[in-house]
Amino acid sequence: MLLGHLLHLNRIDSVIIENRSREYVIERVRAGVLEQGTVDLMIAMGVGERLKRQGLRHDGLYISFDGRRHHINMAELTGGSAITVYGQNEVVKDLIEARIETGRPLYFEVEEVSVDAVDSSQPQIRFLHEGTVHELGCDFIAGCDGFHGISRPSIPSGFLTNYERVYPFGWLGILAEAAPSSEELVYTYHERGFALFSMRSPKVTRLYFQVPPEEDIENWSDDAIWDEMLERMTTRDGWKPNVGLILQKSVTPMRSFVAAPMRFGNMFLAGDSAHIVPPTGAKGLNLAASDVLVLARALKEFYERGNTTCLDQYSDICLRRVWKAQRFSWWMTSSLHRFTDESPFDHQRQIADLDYLTSSRAAMTSLAEQYVGLPAEVSFQSAGL
Ligand SMILES: Cc1cc2nc3c(=O)[nH]c(=O)nc-3n(C[C@H](O)[C@H](O)[C@H](O)COP(=O)(O)OP(=O)(O)OC[C@H]3O[C@@H](n4cnc5c(N)ncnc54)[C@H](O)[C@@H]3O)c2cc1C
Repeated sequence: MLLGHLLHLNRIDSVIIENRSREYVIERVRAGVLEQGTVDLMIAMGVGERLKRQGLRHDGLYISFDGRRHHINMAELTGGSAITVYGQNEVVKDLIEARIETGRPLYFEVEEVSVDAVDSSQPQIRFLHEGTVHELGCDFIAGCDGFHGISRPSIPSGFLTNYERVYPFGWLGILAEAAPSSEELVYTYHERGFALFSMRSPKVTRLYFQVPPEEDIENWSDDAIWDEMLERMTTRDGWKPNVGLILQKSVTPMRSFVAAPMRFGNMFLAGDSAHIVPPTGAKGLNLAASDVLVLARALKEFYERGNTTCLDQYSDICLRRVWKAQRFSWWMTSSLHRFTDESPFDHQRQIADLDYLTSSRAAMTSLAEQYVGLPAEVSFQSAGL
């Protein structure tokens, strides 16, 4: 959707197909932390009005361990950058409205999607919509169809190199009707495992804790979830999350994954179709946004000047950022979770790591500049904004 709007702003035609319904994608609760660059991008694209009004800007975050919360002032450490809490489904809602306003094609609930002749100059997409088979001849295909989509698996085996790390835990996450008791996110390292306090609005909190990866959500009553949240998050000064009605609960496994290169012929992979990060660093949605900024610049160069250099550089430029985000997400995950095979030495070292992180300005600056988002290699101007 983001790429479609960037292309529209550059007067480049596109057709967007989505296999879920409009209602489903607007209701789907996923990421909620936007890097400074993602916020700036949405505003520069003219789709940031509601984000500016309703997004919750956070200048800092807390790291909590040994019963104490330690504040890290990201804005002060990065010269004014911050993150904004605004649900991914709200971003999607704004982009759908913007797309519909352009009158450009957007199909929901498509079925039997397949791609063909991807390594030729006329790749094709075939899909079924409301009983009619559609065949699109394209110049390019953007494979923005997530980790379980069809784009990546359509690439002949052996062409891609896959890099993967599966973590020995998942996150049990809830959405609760409870006013946030902290204005900023609280990342907790506790004897019983990781926990995260975050929020979606002034009335809704989003909380998580570490569980075994195969944990069945049915094993957790709402009362048991709150007991565990409070046990892990309550600090010595008495701070704790407000308890409220649980609106949604689920367990998500943790995985790091990269498929390289992010291009096969005239199909370009972007976002989760090419890479997955564990959500600890809040990078998934932001990486998808930075990928399509690079792709929009490359397509603009191609259509305006017939220049293919930026298309050829697409994968390398994206992967440089992807790997830095992978490294950061892995580091945040490793620093804040308990591992089944850890030794008492590992546990003490982890506490020392967190002690150093929260007492050294250099260490806090390193976290802050990565959390708010490293600078983009591609300027908004070069992508036609
Ligand atoms: C359950 C869950 C929870 C998450 N929680 C967080 C979080 O808390 N924090 C965080 O930072 N990140 C989180 N993420 C990651 C973040 O949501 C993703 O990184 C982000 O959505 C990537 O955007 P994308 O556009 O690449 O993929 P997606 O948002 O997955 O979009 C791909 C779209 O393609 C559609 N699609 C799939 N197959 C087809 C097909 N064959 N034909 C047509 N359309 C198709 C899908 O329905 C989907 O709408 C979560 C992800 C999941 C799955």
